[in-house]
Amino acid sequence: MSRALIEDRVGEIRRKLDSIAGPNAVQLMAVTKYRTQEESLWAAEAGVDAIGENRIQEAVQKWQHLKPPVPLHAIGHVQTNKVKYGIKLFDSIDSLDSERLAEALDGRAADIMPVMIEVNIGLEASKSGLHPDQVRPFLLQLNRWPHLRADGLMTVLPARRENSVEESRRIRHYMQEMADLWRMCRGEELPWAPLTHLSMGMSGDWEWAVEAGSTMVRLGTSIFGPRPLTPPTAGAQDAIDE
Ligand SMILES: *Cc1c(COP(=O)(O)O)cnc(C)c1O
Repeated sequence: MSRALIEDRVGEIRRKLDSIAGPNAVQLMAVTKYRTQEESLWAAEAGVDAIGENRIQEAVQKWQHLKPPVPLHAIGHVQTNKVKYGIKLFDSIDSLDSERLAEALDGRAADIMPVMIEVNIGLEASKSGLHPDQVRPFLLQLNRWPHLRADGLMTVLPARRENSVEESRRIRHYMQEMADLWRMCRGEELPWAPLTHLSMGMSGDWEWAVEAGSTMVRLGTSIFGPRPLTPPTAGAQDAIDE
């Protein structure tokens, strides 16, 4: 993928986002997992608002010596034994979904650590994230961990199983539930949980997500095309212990 093509795609998505939601109302995160360092940097420099990485190990190898010009977010599951790398590298951990991880992040953080609470809105066994009913109680007691500030809710929606009207209704229903949950939690006006963002929408469904109220879409495939089957560093010497 060339730099020019990445710039074109980012520009086109930006224009569509602005036309649906209004100028700069929605942030565009480029998800750079499995992309080379060069491609990832091109996207970071093409006018996106943030970079998202799914695997800590890959993110360390890619970004430890070359900070992207926009904030770097962790969007995948974070094991507590990787927290020390995560705290150093990321500007936000968008996949907080347990007290154990909150405890580990708070214990390592020297300063305020922005986080998002991940919600399993489709109640899927294969996905991480809090059950929707757990989100409000979790936020109410998040001040137990004084370094953490909840800047948003994040969700990975169920995938569409087919192209049908029923299926699109099902997905949009989850999006609506997610937006309602986000508004309800924001209504608590907790000083430690401003919840500025609802991070929702990926390449297959981001236009619907924005219509439902998303303030941040996470796009990989629509920027870079189909994902390679292995990360660029596969086979290379591991930068950190697994
Ligand atoms: C991979 C990934 C994305 C981007 O997926 P695309 O369908 O390629 O846009 C977004 N969010 C998370 C959490 C991901 O792991």
